[in-house]
Amino acid sequence: MPSGKDFGANKKASQGKRNANCSFCRKNYREVGPLVEGPEDVYICGECIELCQSILDQEKRRRGTSGNLFSKVPSPRELVTALDEYVIGQDKAKRLLSVAVHNHYKRLMHQHEGDDEVEIEKSNILLVGPTGCGKTLLAKTLARVLQVPFAIGDATTLTEAGYVGEDVENLLLKLLHAADFDIEAAQRGIIFIDEIDKIGKTSQNVSITRDVSGEGVQQALLKMLEGTVANVPPQGGRKHPEQQYIQIDTTNILFVCGGTFVGLEDIIAGRLGRKVIGFGQNPSTDEDEVRSELLDQADVDDIMEFGLIPELLGRLPVMTTLSPLTEDALVQVLTEPKNALVRQYKKLFEMEECELEFSEGALYEIARRARIRDTGARGLRSIVEKAMFDIMYQLPEQERGQTFRITEEMVRGEQSMLPGDSAAA
Ligand code: ADP
Repeated sequence: MPSGKDFGANKKASQGKRNANCSFCRKNYREVGPLVEGPEDVYICGECIELCQSILDQEKRRRGTSGNLFSKVPSPRELVTALDEYVIGQDKAKRLLSVAVHNHYKRLMHQHEGDDEVEIEKSNILLVGPTGCGKTLLAKTLARVLQVPFAIGDATTLTEAGYVGEDVENLLLKLLHAADFDIEAAQRGIIFIDEIDKIGKTSQNVSITRDVSGEGVQQALLKMLEGTVANVPPQGGRKHPEQQYIQIDTTNILFVCGGTFVGLEDIIAGRLGRKVIGFGQNPSTDEDEVRSELLDQADVDDIMEFGLIPELLGRLPVMTTLSPLTEDALVQVLTEPKNALVRQYKKLFEMEECELEFSEGALYEIARRARIRDTGARGLRSIVEKAMFDIMYQLPEQERGQTFRITEEMVRGEQSMLPGDSAAA
């Protein structure tokens, strides 16, 4: 027997033919261990099975999905549950996105089935919310959950052809890169376009090197959002006129646009007129709450005031607002998601066989500092990094088995974590 294991196929192999070789690598069972027998004297060894499995896995990864798109599109509820693992709060946005995305991919499957009686139009998505509240994270996490290629672009860097800057097609090139140049996979990917509010006609954010009205960019984006066959230069840019273009059909690419739309609350408040009497007059009202409430009532007309052309907004039929993260939510961001910052640092300490703890006061102090910066959760990392710098520098030289505790004072820089160390100013 090649091994002590009593595994059916192997028994068959060794009993049938004492000198069986693997039909793939030709090695004898004595060299490679048990063989699995197929019909007509075909055998395969464990090594070749592993190799086949890794080839299949690679191919699946390359295609971005397992097999023929999905065997089943995750339900909206399943999508929300998956998003919950990475994104704190924003429940309304999660649900809306999940329904839109579920329908989008169901529509793709429906196309695959060749039933074209009813054509379901795709619903690109507009996310409105302050910096660092999770707009990009939501789109990215969805792509990850669905295992489709994902690319991020910034609307302010885009230009109409002929101006200095990026062509709209470069977004597709990024997606193609993310899909390892698998055009099929790229054509059902997700593109997130940030700062969509900054390309409005009335925007202040214009430069002389760019299409001044912003409308050219909007028109170019519009075409992509509607669905077009775009010619994508594989090198990017316009500097290689001789290069062959790759054609990408954007019909099934899901576009998620994000913007902060600063001042949107005021526009809504203005439109609602008397209904919001009390706004700003009641000092006990939490301003964020009032803002969120107002934002909840945003509609297309309010957004239009930012100078986005109606055709473009018409192509972003699913709109939802995200709230600024409260201190409590920021503390959750620090500790709860799968790859939360605090968890990452704890892991680093574990590698040195030490333990790391944050006091509740420390977590809230970090959150408070981030809130003041007005960059939402984006500010958290640099604050934590600053607080941890000294100890990270010295950690490898510290005695193993210790527990380090980060306190509020340490975050404020008033106290050092290591004895004998002078506190940083
Ligand atoms: P924006 O709304 O400006 O697109 P991002 O999604 O890029 O913000 O957020 C920046 C970072 O902040 C993310 O990478 C993530 O670490 C963190 N973050 C922001 N919002 C959340 C949230 N709701 N839940 C968990 N982490 C968040």
